[in-house]
Amino acid sequence: MLRSLFPILDHKVYDRPLVYFDNAATTQKPQPVIDALTGYYATLNSNIHRGAHYLAAQATEQYEETRRNVQRFINARNSHEIIFTRGTTESINLVASSFGQEFLKEGDEVVVSEMEHHSNIVPWQLTCERHGAKLRVLPFSDDGVLCIERLESLLNEHTRIVAVNHVSNTLGTINPIKQIVQIAHSHNIPVLVDGAQAISHMAVDVQELGCDFYCFSGHKMYAPMGVGVLYGREDLLERMPPYQGGGEMIKDVTFERTTYNDLPFKFEAGTPSVGDTMGLNAAIQFMLQTGIENIAHHEKELTDYATQELLAIDGIRIFGQAPRKTSVVSFLLGKAHPYDTGTLLDKLGIAVRTGHHCTQPIMEHYGIPGTVRASFAIYNTKEEIDTFIAALRRIAPILM
Ligand code: PLP
Repeated sequence: MLRSLFPILDHKVYDRPLVYFDNAATTQKPQPVIDALTGYYATLNSNIHRGAHYLAAQATEQYEETRRNVQRFINARNSHEIIFTRGTTESINLVASSFGQEFLKEGDEVVVSEMEHHSNIVPWQLTCERHGAKLRVLPFSDDGVLCIERLESLLNEHTRIVAVNHVSNTLGTINPIKQIVQIAHSHNIPVLVDGAQAISHMAVDVQELGCDFYCFSGHKMYAPMGVGVLYGREDLLERMPPYQGGGEMIKDVTFERTTYNDLPFKFEAGTPSVGDTMGLNAAIQFMLQTGIENIAHHEKELTDYATQELLAIDGIRIFGQAPRKTSVVSFLLGKAHPYDTGTLLDKLGIAVRTGHHCTQPIMEHYGIPGTVRASFAIYNTKEEIDTFIAALRRIAPILM
């Protein structure tokens, strides 16, 4: 059974079977991913691209094979449009910094949404400050749906880019990226998509979405921490200056003048996380073999069941009731502080996340300090949801 591929799920916490519902923070890793990582260090470890020896050639070949597999996985036109980074945060910082340097000037505007992770707000604030540009915000309604009808009125001749998430990590909302891209492109404005919470839950086709940049982290899709991806449209990447300087990203260096390497290496300065990249390759194979449709179907069943069972508990409030959601359920138990709810759940062996989830503007929208967030992955079960609901029913009288 698929669950047995994940050794950590057999572990006990406080002498109870672990119920792991913190998948939006990071997913657990299946054995083939762990094997790819340890296998790399046991048999292949060497620095890529520069070596004249066997190990370096093999590691380079597998690293570049992973790039081609990522390209196919998200249906990018070219493998040199795939840039390896440390994760979503670094991918967005790369674009905010480099795109900002090339395209932003005093008086320009950048549009983000009210439901962004801080990773898709702060890098833009930093770049706006640097260039004298302004951040503008597309709001969402109380049920957690973007007010897409307001987008058009936010765009004008000063808008340089729209940056929005594919899926909200707090509300679970799946945003209408194709529609956002169509509206933005009708004004010749490029769109960056933060796909951190989408990539493990649905098939992503960057050509179909039409977006100009797409960012995600390996660790949220069953791969190791330390590797992520930036997809960027070739013509934009070509125009953008390097983000970091160092080895690998150059053609020629003299003290007078340095010329830069071709894509994607222009944006990959220094030694990358090669072993983690092998793990990402294995994670992609795992997802394809499991079937992305099967993953989505199973997670929807779990989410619908958990939502129904949660709503049957007196005093529960769920934040994020969009018609199209992934497997994230954010809630509060009466007036109980989310941290207290999370701590008591933990003592019963149930791992959830509590707090603002790096989305303080969402908390401000609802006037709450934070939520309790349960998020499900392919290996979770209905029985685990029953355990979770029983635990909540047990702690509710203590906290309310
Ligand atoms: N964007 C979203 C929507 C997220 O949920 C997260 C992580 O939780 C990030 C960005 C940042 O991802 P990372 O910390 O892997 O860079």
